[in-house]
Amino acid sequence: MDRPETTFTLAYIVFALCFVFTPNEFRSAGFTVQHMFSPWLGSEDMGFIQHHVRRSALTALLHCFLPLGYYAGMCLAAPEQDLLQVHRAARGWQLYFCFSLTVLLVGCVLVFVWSRRGWENHPICRALSAHALQRSSWRAVASSINTEFRRIDKFSSGCPSARVIVTDSWVMKVSTYSLHIALQQDCHLTVTGSTQHSLSPELNAPLQILTITVASINPRVQPFLIRLKSTEYAELQEKLHAPIRNAANVVIHLTMSELFLETFKTYVKMNAVYECPSGQELEPCIGCMQARAGVKLLRLCQADGEGECQQCFCRPMWCLTCMGKWFASRQDQQTPETWLSSRVPCPTCRAKFCILDVCSIE
Ligand SMILES: [Zn+2]
Ligand SMILES: [Zn+2]
Ligand SMILES: [Zn+2]
Repeated sequence: MDRPETTFTLAYIVFALCFVFTPNEFRSAGFTVQHMFSPWLGSEDMGFIQHHVRRSALTALLHCFLPLGYYAGMCLAAPEQDLLQVHRAARGWQLYFCFSLTVLLVGCVLVFVWSRRGWENHPICRALSAHALQRSSWRAVASSINTEFRRIDKFSSGCPSARVIVTDSWVMKVSTYSLHIALQQDCHLTVTGSTQHSLSPELNAPLQILTITVASINPRVQPFLIRLKSTEYAELQEKLHAPIRNAANVVIHLTMSELFLETFKTYVKMNAVYECPSGQELEPCIGCMQARAGVKLLRLCQADGEGECQQCFCRPMWCLTCMGKWFASRQDQQTPETWLSSRVPCPTCRAKFCILDVCSIE
């Protein structure tokens, strides 16, 4: 294969993947369907449902155009292949041309069918009609959702490719091609799982992502999953009229400090272990009076006389959890990215220590 062809092929694959999955860099550069075609899509705030009906149809159409776009680009990148005159091109290219034309055609037909009778056949409108009262149409449901979406007190969260929106009477999830909708009074929310992400240099705050299943008693509404940060859980609960069930007994960390505690423990486990001199009894932690004292502060992060950390001569008095809570309580709540690298005074003698100096006791 010639060099311009290879370069173009690689570039096009990267472009297509970015266009379909839209990483954050692409999104912030305004390279999304929503941004590029905003005049035609209309404002999301003014007509939420209409906006997403048009957006998903246009997205489907543009994605179906990608294979043919590659062929068109190849006409320019490899002129010697004679791709412009399809009948003279190689057999493989002819097949590819037919394939990409078919994909585009299927996309066009699909969108055409959707758009008939004022988009009545579109999957979003069909989903809405599951909520329509007798002798009314999806339009009545759409206008109710549009009105509620305009209110500023709605709950909105999640990554842009799977947004979660909860209004006074609806729970919705917006993804690339679809919009899941359930009526609040009909649905049960159940926490089914969670993933924990430690505070790391790439991630500037510890993160717990909850997976919640939304199931409706309406048989025409398919259950769907929503994902959100545990710190947004309280806000979601406030917006819902019914409690959220916790089927998997997931421990939900509602605040940044609770989340940080997990990270703190993980990091301390990586530090050196302090061996208690024989004969020394470990007393109960003076913070909680329940667990035994379990940590000792030893200046290990740097050599003597360097840096800001100081040697603490206190005997072990605190358990790991209480020390973690103390560490978190001394932090600036607005800048979680600085937490791991910061220094706090020992709760007893006020000698400064950092997370590297916290040793668990053997
Ligand atoms: Zn304690
Ligand atoms: Zn101390
Ligand atoms: Zn230190």
